[in-house]
Amino acid sequence: MRKSVVRFHQQQKHNAAKRGFFRRHLLLFILIASLLTISGGTYWYLHYKDVADTKIRNDAHSKYLTAADANIQRLKELKIKHAQQAEAEAKAKAEADEAARKAAATQAPSGSTASNKVCDVTNAAVITVVVNKKHCFNPITWAPSDLTSLGGYLLRAEAAGQLNGMMNDAAAAGVGFSLSSAYRSYSDQAATYSNWVAVNGSQAAADTVSARPGYSEHQTGLAADLKVGGCALECFKGSAAYTWLTQNAANYGFIQRYPDGLTSITGYSPEAWHWRYVGVATATDMKAKGIQTLEQYFGISGGDYS
Ligand SMILES: [Zn+2]
Repeated sequence: MRKSVVRFHQQQKHNAAKRGFFRRHLLLFILIASLLTISGGTYWYLHYKDVADTKIRNDAHSKYLTAADANIQRLKELKIKHAQQAEAEAKAKAEADEAARKAAATQAPSGSTASNKVCDVTNAAVITVVVNKKHCFNPITWAPSDLTSLGGYLLRAEAAGQLNGMMNDAAAAGVGFSLSSAYRSYSDQAATYSNWVAVNGSQAAADTVSARPGYSEHQTGLAADLKVGGCALECFKGSAAYTWLTQNAANYGFIQRYPDGLTSITGYSPEAWHWRYVGVATATDMKAKGIQTLEQYFGISGGDYS
């Protein structure tokens, strides 16, 4: 009896300890489960939030890219449109230029220039003809009918013969020279002049170095540009040939057409290399009278274009 009572008490004690253990550990389980639930929930919340945010960002980015693409496309179209406009304008300008050129060309034979100036040199075949910036050829494309070659350069027959004799005599005197330019047609001069306009950027700048077509003395077939070897243009003035010419050229009918200090009369800066055939009688008479320009000798206006 006593034994069974003791066992009962032991049993009771054992059961109480067991319940205490479960109570204590149940709290621990609840605590751990709560922690796991909270951290898991937080993790999934953050994960899904991140996914959602990324999706929003991606959507915004692709919208931005679409807009950028559209902008690029618009710019491309604008560029193409501008290029087409520029091309159309260039074409219109070229057509206008061509029309103006054609108008000038049809005007030209009647003796008018692009500025509608009426040219008055109707006696271009006369040996003493004066062509300058105030007096242009009429018809403006006038050309000599008796051009002959001298060393590959064209001159009117009489001028060529006289120049040939002068060249031979100068060479014999040890001061030989040769030609660098002679006859230039209206179209030669038109090409030369428009080239100078292109190089210098304006007609005003071209006018300082080249005669306008229809205004050049080279179109008479009576003017020659001279050189000594490679010494042409400005260099020619320092040559012995130039000194010889100033003393002897009149005897062959030649004058230095654009002398020093007379630009306001001739319209040209001094050109030591440019010699003009006017005939022996006129050249020697001018020399005897000390008159250097054809404008002064014949009382004809000169100077600049206007
Ligand atoms: Zn010349």
